[in-house]
Amino acid sequence: MTAQEALKNYFGYDSFRPGQDTVVSALLSGRDALAIMPTGAGKSLCYQIPALLLPGLTLVISPLISLMQDQVKGLSAAGIPAAYINSALTENQIAKALQLAAQGSYKIIYVAPERLESPTFQSFAAAAEISMLTVDEAHCISQWGQDFRPSYLRILNFIDSLPRRPIVSAFTATATREVKDDIAQTLRLRDPEIVITGFDRPNLYYRVETTRRKDAFVADYVRSHPGESGIIYCATRKNVDAVQEMLRGEDISAARYHAGMTNEERRQSQNDFIYDAAPVIVATNAFGMGIDKSNVRYVIHYNMPQSMENYYQEAGRAGRDGLPSQCILLFSPQDIVINRFLLDHKENDDLDDEAADLLRARDNQRLQAMANYCQTTGCLRNYILRYFGEEPDGPCGSCGNCDREFEEVDMTAQAKWMINCVAETRGRYGKGVVLNTLRGANMARLRELGAMDYRSYGQLKDCTRDELDCLLAQLLEEGYLVQTDDQYAVLHMGNITPLKQGAQVVVKLPPKPEPAEAAPKKHKAGKAAQKGKAALAGDSADLFEQLRALRMRLAQAEKLPPYLVFGDKTLVDMCAKAPRQLEDMKEIYGMGERKFAKYGKQFFAAIEDYRREHPEAEFTGA
Ligand code: ADP
Ligand code: MG
Repeated sequence: MTAQEALKNYFGYDSFRPGQDTVVSALLSGRDALAIMPTGAGKSLCYQIPALLLPGLTLVISPLISLMQDQVKGLSAAGIPAAYINSALTENQIAKALQLAAQGSYKIIYVAPERLESPTFQSFAAAAEISMLTVDEAHCISQWGQDFRPSYLRILNFIDSLPRRPIVSAFTATATREVKDDIAQTLRLRDPEIVITGFDRPNLYYRVETTRRKDAFVADYVRSHPGESGIIYCATRKNVDAVQEMLRGEDISAARYHAGMTNEERRQSQNDFIYDAAPVIVATNAFGMGIDKSNVRYVIHYNMPQSMENYYQEAGRAGRDGLPSQCILLFSPQDIVINRFLLDHKENDDLDDEAADLLRARDNQRLQAMANYCQTTGCLRNYILRYFGEEPDGPCGSCGNCDREFEEVDMTAQAKWMINCVAETRGRYGKGVVLNTLRGANMARLRELGAMDYRSYGQLKDCTRDELDCLLAQLLEEGYLVQTDDQYAVLHMGNITPLKQGAQVVVKLPPKPEPAEAAPKKHKAGKAAQKGKAALAGDSADLFEQLRALRMRLAQAEKLPPYLVFGDKTLVDMCAKAPRQLEDMKEIYGMGERKFAKYGKQFFAAIEDYRREHPEAEFTGA
C-alpha cells in the first residue's frame, strides 16, 4: 500500500495537506523529521500513516492521557490497531496490553513520557521491533516553552537504550526558534527533514470587539449559534463562575472548567463538552491542552490573554476540521491594567534576579504585543502572521478589521507633531505624558516635567483620545516611533526618513461609537462563511440536522465523541451531495473504507428516508 492509498482507505481523504507528504516520505525513507505546523494542520496523520506502513511498531510519546485516549479511539474507528499505556490503566491491563503488543497486535502505541522509565516497559521495548519513535507536542521538551515537562528530557536516554535506534520524529505547533532548536538538540535528531508550514489558518475568522458589555455579547452570540460547539475563555476562576452563572440566567446551560474544581468535576465537564452533551464550555486557560475536538465552531475570549502565543494557541482550538470558525476577543482597556498587575505579582521564586528580570521584560513585551493586537485597525490575520515571523502579502479581506468600515484619514500633519513631541521628551516618557502633552492637558505632572513649555504642547487638542491612540499605534507599527520593552514602555524616535521624504501617514479610524455604547457591530459575511454548514440551505440544512441526530445516537451507543464517528465536514458533504447510490457514499469527504463499512449504510438510509419524505427536495451546498 502506498501512503496515498493509506490516506484514502483509512482516513477517507483524497490528498495530503501542505507539508504532510514531505514528512511522510522522509519518515518512510528512514529519515528523522521535525514538523512545525499549526493546530489543526494534521500532524497526527504525518506519523500515523508511516506507522501503518513501516514494518514494526511505532511508539508515540504524548503528554496527556485524554489526548491518547482520543487518538486511540480515532485510530480504532479508522481500523488501525492502536493502544495506549498510561496511569489510567490497572497493572493488569498494562501487562495485557504489553503482551498483545509483543505479539505484534498493534501498529501504534501511545505512552506518557514517564512510562519510558518503567523497567517493565523497558524490557518490553528492548525485545520489540520498534520502527519509529514519535514525540507529539514536542515543545514540552523545551525549557523555553510554557508547557515544559521534565520527563520529556529523558526520551533521549530511552532511545539510546534501545538495541536499534528507531526513526525519530517530532511534532509541535510552537514555532519560536528557541523551541525548535531545543527539540532538535535534545532529541539529537539525525539530519532531520524539517518542515515548517505557514501559520495561516484560513478558516479562522479573527475579530476583536471593544466593548464593556461583554456579558450581553456572549449571551447573544451563544444564543444565535444554537447547537454549535464553543469555548469561552476567561482570565480567572471567578470570571468563569460568573459567566457560567450569567448564561444560566439567560437559560443557556454551559459546562465550566478551572483549576479550582475537583478532578472528578473537571473530568465530567470535559467529557460533557467532548461528547457534545454541553455544546459550550466556560473555562480558564487550564482547559484545552489535549482537546482534539474537531468541531469547535467558536472560541470567545472574555478577557485579553497575556501573550499572542497564548491567544494563537487557545483561539486555534476552533476549526480543526477546517470549517469556518470564529475567534473573537472581547477587549476592554481595563484588560491591560489587570494583566500588568498579574505580571507584576507573578512569583519567580526559583529564579535568580537576573533571570527574573529577563523573564519580566519578556512578559511585558509579550503583553504589549497582545494589547497592540486588540487596538490595531489593520488586518488582524496579518498581525498574527507577522508576529510569528511571516510576511503576508496584503490584507486578508476576511477578518473583523478587514470587514469593518473604517474611515481612512490622512494624519500626516498630526503625526509630525506627535513625533516632535517624542523628540522633545528626549525619549524619557511613555504614552501617557506624550498624549496628554499633545492634548494640552492641564496636569501637575506635566508642569513638573516642564512639558507645558514644549512647542508641541496642546497642538493636537482637537483630536479625540481614540484618534490619538490610533495615530500612535500606527506610528509604532510603521516604525516611526519605538516603545521600550520594559515595564515603563518609554517612547523614543524610530526611523523617520520616509516621513521626511514625503510619505503620508494614513490612519484607519474606527467608526464613531453609537450612542450609549453600541451593541457589537454587524459584520459582512467573510469569504470563509461561504463554506461549511452555513452554506447549506433548505433541504440540505434540514438533512444536516437529521444526520447530526443519527451521529449522536451512534456515538452514544458506542461511547464515542460524535466527531469521531464523522466530522462536521463529512456531514456537510453528505448533505450537499445527498448520494443516490450507496457506492457514491465512498466519495464523501472523510469516508474511509472502515467508516464506510461501519456507518455507510445507516447514513445512506437516512438520506434515502429524507428523499422519500420530501420528494421535491433539492440539495445544494458548498
Ligand atoms: P494537529 O495535531 O496538527 O493539531 P490533527 O492531526 O488533530 O491536527 O488533525 C486535525 C484535523 O484535520 C483532523 O480532523 C484530521 O482528520 C484532519 N486532517 C488531517 N489531514 C487531513 C487531510 N490530508 N485531508 C483532510 N483532513 C485532514
Ligand atoms: Mg496534535
